[in-house]
Amino acid sequence: MESMNKSIFIPRETIEKRVKELGEQISRDYAESELIIVGVLKGAFIFMADLIRALSIPCRVDFARLASYGSGAASSGKVIMTKDIETSIRGRDILIVEDIVDTGLTLKFLVDWFRERNPRSLKVCAFLDKQGRRKVPFEADYVGFSVDDAFVIGYGLDFDEKGRFLPDVYIVE
Ligand code: 5GP
Ligand code: MG
Ligand code: MG
Repeated sequence: MESMNKSIFIPRETIEKRVKELGEQISRDYAESELIIVGVLKGAFIFMADLIRALSIPCRVDFARLASYGSGAASSGKVIMTKDIETSIRGRDILIVEDIVDTGLTLKFLVDWFRERNPRSLKVCAFLDKQGRRKVPFEADYVGFSVDDAFVIGYGLDFDEKGRFLPDVYIVE
């Protein structure tokens, strides 16, 4: 960590304020339903933990894990599920919680995967969004912050499994 050249991008106070707003918005939107929140491991675990505690409505939680293969840092297109959820989602309201949307390939895959099970509704909340980097069209329903083309770590996001524990978000140079 010490050797990594990084600068602060989103301080914890700003994150806390935005997560609170997202929690309020989601609570309003799902006031009449029993929401199931699906976190995408590992990157979303801290965001999800904060987000569900910012809700004023009850929810259930489950987790999925995906892997993408290909050239180096960029995901190349081949996404596979390595851990599926264990909850039945047919006829239920589902909110996927993800750390960051980059090419869109991971979330496109996951949304298609869950849609086959006929949930009543299926939306996505992403902590971060790199809109300019899509390889497939994809729009998250709730977004914490937009990021330009930079690699970020902290608040659950890693660089080679390092930096997930950092309470603030950093840009790695
Ligand atoms: P996508 O399929 O949208 O290209 O990739 C999404 C995944 O790539 C994210 O869930 C995340 O694991 C990883 N990723 C994309 N951009 C970044 C980034 O700037 N920092 C980190 N730590 N991971 C990223
Ligand atoms: Mg992720
Ligand atoms: Mg990662």
